[in-house]
Amino acid sequence: MIDILNLDYEELETFISKELKGPKFRVKQIWQWLWQKGVSNFDDMTNIAKGLREDLKSKAVLNHPELDVVQTSKDGTIKLLLRLGDGALVETVLIPMEGRYTQCLSTQVGCAMGCTFCNTGLMGFERNMTMSEILGQVLVGRAYLEQKNLDQLKNLVFMGMGEPLLNLDELIKSLKTLNDPEGLSFVPRRITVSSVGFIKQLKVLGESGLTLPAISLHAPTQELREKIMPKAAQTDINDLLSAMDHYPLKPRERVTYEYLLLGGVNDSIEHAKQLVRLLGHRKCKVNLIAYNPGDKPLYKAPDPAQVLAFEKYLWDKEITATIRRSMGQDIKAACGQLKADRKES
Ligand code: SF4
Repeated sequence: MIDILNLDYEELETFISKELKGPKFRVKQIWQWLWQKGVSNFDDMTNIAKGLREDLKSKAVLNHPELDVVQTSKDGTIKLLLRLGDGALVETVLIPMEGRYTQCLSTQVGCAMGCTFCNTGLMGFERNMTMSEILGQVLVGRAYLEQKNLDQLKNLVFMGMGEPLLNLDELIKSLKTLNDPEGLSFVPRRITVSSVGFIKQLKVLGESGLTLPAISLHAPTQELREKIMPKAAQTDINDLLSAMDHYPLKPRERVTYEYLLLGGVNDSIEHAKQLVRLLGHRKCKVNLIAYNPGDKPLYKAPDPAQVLAFEKYLWDKEITATIRRSMGQDIKAACGQLKADRKES
């Protein structure tokens, strides 16, 4: 049986015309049912002839991830723990921002990168997610918001469980499907892919023109990066930055570097100085994120005054920096925290 949500438009076309001997004009209709209307049952495709629906049912499956746990934070952040077809659990988070929602998506079950500040990293890697599973998160998230009469889903960030560039084929396929105006219709500027950075994969992503990634830097020197993200740091920090210097940008675009402030580890003014040395001459901006310790802290949260001082130092040296609010503190919205708890229960 084929998972129909794993087919891109061309593959769906081939499947309908060659396998099911269906007429070509049905392809667009079925595609719209799958992605625009987000049905989870072939019988809901009411303008598709019954015979073709039966053929679809005999050769394909249409499954959305199942909602296992929903948690809503006082600040409106909604965390969904989803159960995939094989029972694997992944997390996705809906974050309210100025009258719209941003959804944080996972791309792998677990993660092989083992960043020392990340609960997902501690779980290790289970497997890659398919396009059906990656975009299934969007279908479930969007339906949840609609059902609860909440604001619309407008932006997507690939910052959930897993390292997106280590699941590159499914990531690129997902980005293409997201961009389709007859499908989910998320234009590239509404999508951010966050990565610790792999030079070969970044080149492929850049050539695809599908998105501008945000690089999880988190340390201003190779030495400190090796300590807090040992596997990611196998790519030398200078090689990574020079690869990003060559990333194809549109005229007003800049590379985003994410910097997670860990209390007493990388949040001093000395670290800010080192960061300026590294980035000062580059076309970039910095997103500062204060570590959210949850109830099983791996590090200390940074002092709020220190976070502000760090930001100010960067601005004083003419680096654009913004502090990203840490949302959903009370519901374990940091990556991997909810799944870690579910495993223990
Ligand atoms: S921070 Fe991202 S790349 Fe690092 S272990 Fe966690 S999920 Fe993996």
